[in-house]
Amino acid sequence: MKTNNIIIVGGGSAGWMTAATLIKRFPEKNITLIESPNISTVGVGESTIAQINQWLSMLDIKDEDFMPYTDASYKMSIRFEDFYKKGDGGFHYPFGDLYDKEYYKGRQTWIMKKVLYSDTPYSDYAESMYTPMSLVRHNTIFKNEKEELPNFNFDKDTAYHFDATKFGLWLKNNYCIPKGVKHVLDNVESIEQNESGITSINKKYTADLFIDCTGFKSLLLGGALKEPFVSYSDMLPNNKAWATRVPYKDKRNQLEPFTNCTAIENGWVWNIPSWERIGTGYVYSDKYVSDEQALKEFKKHLDKKGHDYSNSEFKNIKMRVGRHERLFVKNVVAIGLSAGFIEPLESNGLYSTHEFLFRLVRTLNRGDKDTINQFDIDSYDSACKSLFDQFAEFVAAHYALSHRDDTEYWRDVNKRSYSKEVTDLKPSFIPGFVSLVYGKYRDYEHAKGGHDCISIGMRNLPLDLDTLHYTETIRGEDKLKEAIDHHYLDSINKMETNKRDWNDVAKNQLKLIDYLKRYIHKNE
Ligand code: FAD
Repeated sequence: MKTNNIIIVGGGSAGWMTAATLIKRFPEKNITLIESPNISTVGVGESTIAQINQWLSMLDIKDEDFMPYTDASYKMSIRFEDFYKKGDGGFHYPFGDLYDKEYYKGRQTWIMKKVLYSDTPYSDYAESMYTPMSLVRHNTIFKNEKEELPNFNFDKDTAYHFDATKFGLWLKNNYCIPKGVKHVLDNVESIEQNESGITSINKKYTADLFIDCTGFKSLLLGGALKEPFVSYSDMLPNNKAWATRVPYKDKRNQLEPFTNCTAIENGWVWNIPSWERIGTGYVYSDKYVSDEQALKEFKKHLDKKGHDYSNSEFKNIKMRVGRHERLFVKNVVAIGLSAGFIEPLESNGLYSTHEFLFRLVRTLNRGDKDTINQFDIDSYDSACKSLFDQFAEFVAAHYALSHRDDTEYWRDVNKRSYSKEVTDLKPSFIPGFVSLVYGKYRDYEHAKGGHDCISIGMRNLPLDLDTLHYTETIRGEDKLKEAIDHHYLDSINKMETNKRDWNDVAKNQLKLIDYLKRYIHKNE
């Protein structure tokens, strides 16, 4: 199949990120983006994760290029509140690597500390293991050029909160069109096809390869090619969202470098502080609550957090949660919401788009760069699907590990059974749901990655006193504690000293708001 002429349909952030990626990597190809002049984009998608830096570096886009024009701020973590139980105190999942390059050593020390001193809060794990947590705690930020915070790499470990619509517009006007992407404003009225795939759109726009970025409508892959949709509803409960924006009341303190996620009656609420305002939304299931009742719950939550929504518009969004059976069929590949959606928890939407784009570039890059074959298509398809399914499993774990039972919604979440891979604890290299559970019951040494922030935050500790009694064969609790203390006391004390040192560094840096004023939003 030839790939010289490419049409992207849809001008949401997926469409413009696709256009930007392809024009950067394949300037010799003929790339056109068609978008509707009157159908709006989904308008959400404001919180990113640190992997966005890989995509930005592939495109050679710097913070100073886009941040001033997109209401952008920095993000270093995601905080989860009340997911385990109401009033659980919350916990963070920060970006970056553990402070200790000898991964298991530090982690093991913290777990021993928790076993020995059981009143250690679960939130202490991230604070002891990830140095940027000291910045999050003090709401400060700096480049760490002298490496005062071990293993914190500013360019890799900070992500962004921004205005998604402004980000799309910035890409269009400052990157895609200047580099040669052709832009057409038109509604898709008809899609023509033969046995090899789509031949034209509206009988006049022809291409070798069509990229479907039409959002939840999936006009090309789902609509024209009728590729079946596989729902994730067996593992993920939510299918609706209310989204809005509220003004800052106290920007200096409310402009924080993390997305806050609070579980409430029938789902959870995101809080995303960008430069100009705070984006917030309630993700819920309409199986348990009407849209009107959900809006009341959302407003009650906003009242509790002290937000003023008197001038805010509330948008109701129906989410299509799952993915198409195949994501690349004949000459059509779907990217963004048209391919699938997990749900907003863990800010995975833009991340998946970047991962798909990276794989598409590699696919189109093979051989002579102007042809691909069925093997290329199938390899792309299987790589993207397994990535997407694993992430969906990871998101599902946030519900599966919850012990909330205060509403019908949470009681049903509690009663759900998960797939055989999860319950059988099949050994897996996959850093998904399986490894979270596997880490607890089979091999406590080897649950790894940021997953242990979620696992530990949700009280799914890989090691406890019972396991130690069982494995160490030391009789008597005091004797066992004495033995562990003897072994770990020095490293536990060192961990406390480290934390104090990092906090000393962090508290002397610029507040996030001042850093942004100095380096990014200079005219404000
Ligand atoms: P859209 O923005 O819907 O764009 C679709 C495009 O298709 C539009 O340009 C439209 O005009 C065009 N179109 C539609 N029909 C036609 C037609 N007939 N003819 C021509 N053009 C047409 N992701 C994150 O990374 N972080 C988050 O915090 C996050 N939060 C989210 C919260 C919610 C509630 C939802 C639903 C999603 C969230 N996402 C998040 C995902 C993120 O919003 C999307 O991945 C991202 O916005 C990409 O959307 P899109 O471009 O695929 O679709």
